[in-house]
Amino acid sequence: MANIKASIITIGDELLIGQTIDTNSAWIARQLNALGIDVVRRIAVGDNAPDIRKALDEEIAASDTVLITGGLGPTADDITKPLLCEYFGGKMQVDERVLEHVKEMFVRRNRPFLERNLKQAEVPDNCTVLFNRMGTAPGMLFEKNGKLIISMPGVPFEMMAIMEDGVLPLYKSRFKSDAMVHRTLITAGEGESFIAERIADIENALPPYIRLAYLPSLGMVKLRLTGRRENEEGLIGEVEAWQHKLHERLANIVVASEDISFEQILGKLLNEKGSTLALAESCTGGYISHLITQVAGASKYLKGCIVPYLVEVKENVLGVQKETLEAYGAVSEPVAREMAERVREKLNSDYSISITGILDIDKVEGETAASRTAWIAVASATETQAKEFRFNHDRIRNKESAAIMAMFMLWKFIKGRS
Ligand code: AMP
Ligand code: MG
Repeated sequence: MANIKASIITIGDELLIGQTIDTNSAWIARQLNALGIDVVRRIAVGDNAPDIRKALDEEIAASDTVLITGGLGPTADDITKPLLCEYFGGKMQVDERVLEHVKEMFVRRNRPFLERNLKQAEVPDNCTVLFNRMGTAPGMLFEKNGKLIISMPGVPFEMMAIMEDGVLPLYKSRFKSDAMVHRTLITAGEGESFIAERIADIENALPPYIRLAYLPSLGMVKLRLTGRRENEEGLIGEVEAWQHKLHERLANIVVASEDISFEQILGKLLNEKGSTLALAESCTGGYISHLITQVAGASKYLKGCIVPYLVEVKENVLGVQKETLEAYGAVSEPVAREMAERVREKLNSDYSISITGILDIDKVEGETAASRTAWIAVASATETQAKEFRFNHDRIRNKESAAIMAMFMLWKFIKGRS
């Protein structure tokens, strides 16, 4: 079967002025991708009829199915519903089931039911209602020339509920798409162009139905293999064989062979070893700790975090020696080393990470170190390692990369890799 094509139209002035970020399209695209449906076009238009009509004309022509979000609220700026009704040649009428649901939602929220809310229960008589368990605006399904046009509210969790309850099951039953298999390798510490050089021969030898994507993010590159073929027979095994080849070639930089975050990778490693971790985070202000505690079960390995932001706290709370601070400055190798060692002792953990640095150009008075520099140290009972890092971005991105670098450094330290 040929690939099914989908278009996504997001509607709302707020999307065009950048007030709201269009997260709906990304979420929908991921869901469709998982079903093997190709999203071929995404378009955002304002709350105005001519633009919406034009987008409908174009996307219905381009795709087998069109998903629309936005413009379904009860206020005057929301024009999608009557417009779709007219576009597909229907009449508005109250849907009893939707009316009952809307009234019930008002009772549950203890709000008076207004006349204008009646409008929410009106739907075009030529659509199939897609029930919205999370809100009052129903989703709608129109069919034209065998194409499926779906309209959903813009509120993300309402859209998601309608997708999960109505749209995705419908797609599964209507469209038989290709079998699709994804396998991921996560690498850290090497840029994508270097990786591409190292694996060029493998990449060139891939069969046409297996594709390799490079997905770089701060400090890491994900390599995703996607196998896609009409018949599923043997496809998983084949994709995994290529994953294995890449893994062997890149063994020194691969940190995971599944699609997980770095904090999960580190958490898994600490869990496997039954080891614990303590953190002393100066310039990252607890951000590494935040990431690590995003993972369920982090209490098994994270003992705690001290954020000794100012020099006096490094000295008085953490126990870094005054002499070291005075001789080398707070952003220095000896201070990073002492921080890692002291926090490990104080919190009684197997491993520790410390970081001290200046991530931004506004220099702290009395600091001698160059800006956008950080010293990171990792320690165990028997060894301490420290390394200097330089950053090129703004404060927030530098903080994010420092956190990844620090976690990666500990990961390598525990694995005995350099
Ligand atoms: P609407 O259905 O147009 O009344 O949308 C209601 C709210 O949903 C808007 O105020 C936005 O905050 C949010 N929203 C609308 N479209 C999107 C979108 N594409 N991505 C994320 N949020 C959205
Ligand atoms: Mg709107």
